[in-house]
Amino acid sequence: MTQTIAVIRGDGIGPEIMEATLHVLDAMQLGLRYEDVDAGMVALEKHGELLPASTLETIRKHGIALKSPLTTPVGEGFSSINVALRRHFDLYANVRPAKSFPNTKSRFGEGVDLITVRENTEGAYIGEGQMVSEDGQIATLTQKVTRHGSERIVRYAFELARRTGRRKVTVVHKANILKSTSGLFLKVAREVAQEYADIECNEMIVDNTCMQLVMRPEQFDIIVTTNLFGDIISDLCAGLVGGLGLAPGANIGADAAIFEAVHGSAPDIAGKGIANPCALLLAAAQMLDHIGKADAGNRIREAIVATLEAKDPALTPDLGGSGTTMSFAEAIARRVAG
Ligand code: NAD
Repeated sequence: MTQTIAVIRGDGIGPEIMEATLHVLDAMQLGLRYEDVDAGMVALEKHGELLPASTLETIRKHGIALKSPLTTPVGEGFSSINVALRRHFDLYANVRPAKSFPNTKSRFGEGVDLITVRENTEGAYIGEGQMVSEDGQIATLTQKVTRHGSERIVRYAFELARRTGRRKVTVVHKANILKSTSGLFLKVAREVAQEYADIECNEMIVDNTCMQLVMRPEQFDIIVTTNLFGDIISDLCAGLVGGLGLAPGANIGADAAIFEAVHGSAPDIAGKGIANPCALLLAAAQMLDHIGKADAGNRIREAIVATLEAKDPALTPDLGGSGTTMSFAEAIARRVAG
């Protein structure tokens, strides 16, 4: 069956890195179709709103979207289009791989190959019940964790481990202090882990996890955690492997999944043709895994590694090359096709 992908070209460097990514996908001749939809500043200009109903409908229809970064307008009103998308489609799993690539500026040239699975819909991060007292002296926030939310994210992590041949899931928590919320998450995680005797499971307190990630990142395989801890840990992991230019992420729900680069719209380099397309390309590889084309996803990852290993002059300046977004994409496309 031909899979159609809803494509959001986004703002700033978004259209440039999307063109590069689609160029590589086309070189693989996977029979994918694309349907362009608007979101962000482009949608505001064309349709008078940042996230038009027609965009939501197209994503719902195809169930898969590849999304470039969107500029979040500063000021009152809309908090974040990304948060709105997550909420609308109940995209409960935020899945962020972090893998060492050769010849990058990372501190770890090799040995990092982990995936952070972050709960995306509840916990402190969503800012439920935020209030500041009238005299400005006391600020409060409700932190809600549910059995349902914990169970589905932990199960997702274990299923991902099984599907991808990974051996270990580390449950990251702060149940020693946050006895109710983190406590429930850990309790449910332990129950779910019992069903996966083939996968090793260990538990780690979040502060120790941060230290361990910096000292010995190779001990981690899959990390599963609650929303706010996952937000922080996944950026730490992106830093371990060389930063934003190589960090993809997926937001996955039962009926829809959205794949994106972790970085933003980079207004400082927009229009210059020098944006690194790898983060979106790696997100496209995650998308291919998700739609049952894992071989194709691996071919993209291998082609990126080969291009970096060759110190190809076509690499973008952030990776030490003198090339452009498109020359980099063409160098990768030659390797995936061949
Ligand atoms: P940013 O990620 O856009 O840029 C941070 C720095 O990294 C800049 O110097 C930029 O040039 C560089 N950079 C980012 N991506 C790059 C790439 N592919 N190649 C080379 N260099 C790259 O973060 P920011 O400046 O804080 O945010 C800009 C806008 O993006 C804001 O409106 C923000 O709200 C939005 N944003 C969107 C998303 C998203 O849609 N997922 C995520 C983060 C930020």
